[in-house]
Amino acid sequence: VSAKILDGKALAEKVLLESRIKAEKLNPTIAVIVVGDDPASAVYVRNKERSCEKAGIRSVSIRLPEETTQEELLEKIHMLNNDDEITGFIVQLPLPEHFYTPDVIRAIDPAKDIDGFQAYNLGKMFLSPEFEDLPPATPAGIMRMLEEYNIEIEGKEVVVVGHSNIVGKPISIMLLNRNATVTTCHKFTKDLAAHTSRADILIVAAGVPGLITGDMVKKGVVVVDVGINRLETGKIVGDVLFDEVQEKASYISPVPGGVGPMTVASLITNAIHAAKRQSIEESK
Ligand code: NAD
Repeated sequence: VSAKILDGKALAEKVLLESRIKAEKLNPTIAVIVVGDDPASAVYVRNKERSCEKAGIRSVSIRLPEETTQEELLEKIHMLNNDDEITGFIVQLPLPEHFYTPDVIRAIDPAKDIDGFQAYNLGKMFLSPEFEDLPPATPAGIMRMLEEYNIEIEGKEVVVVGHSNIVGKPISIMLLNRNATVTTCHKFTKDLAAHTSRADILIVAAGVPGLITGDMVKKGVVVVDVGINRLETGKIVGDVLFDEVQEKASYISPVPGGVGPMTVASLITNAIHAAKRQSIEESK
């Protein structure tokens, strides 16, 4: 029996349509700061611009040259923080090497942090689902995907592979908030397969193509593959050996067309939520 597909592409379209209705009332305007000309970032930024258009959100791209200094970037962020026209913005990562990224993220007003990377927004997530106001977009997209497919989380064994601040750690917290039993694995985990083979739900965000093979999962597992890896042939693959794992899984997300589009859709959801909270603040 092969697995059902968690179709992130189709679901993201639905989220964007829903967003369009909400955006009409709120008039959000977002900005995307891009420093330098990383080709992968250019693709992501174009996707974000296209999704904004679909959702009826005005988006402004601010392109800065590679040689921009940390001070100049902080100054730009400061301007956006104080610009009433801008309801949310992101700084496209990774930044060129001469930047110190933690200080750049710290400079973003949490109310406008639609990537959800700011410590204040990450910290609020610890409290409970009601405080996940501006969650990081990838984990938020995964949660939405699991909800839409009615995948039960409470009481389930969930194994997360990867413990980055933008995917592995926050998704682990969001799952704990929903009463899963969560195991977070990473590069230093001994015997990865011993953990993954216990999972009812397996979320993989390691950036290692072929990391999860068919013999590492149990029958009926729900697999969410977050990895995006470009092979030498130019092909984009996830971290999960799709053909093998789908034979045993009940659900699996493809790459591309799974978590990627859901991430962009969640960024849009955050953009609307940020605009809404600001309009409530204003009316007080
Ligand atoms: P990262 O490089 O910051 O973290 C990688 C994590 O994987 C670390 O916790 C590391 O310990 C773990 N890891 C690495 N090798 C491992 C191994 N052999 N066994 C077990 N754990 C291992 O990565 P990230 O930013 O969290 O991204 C992870 C992957 O997800 C990348 O491929 C990235 O491109 C992709 N990604 C996709 C989206 C999306 O929208 N689909 C968004 C963000 C990241």
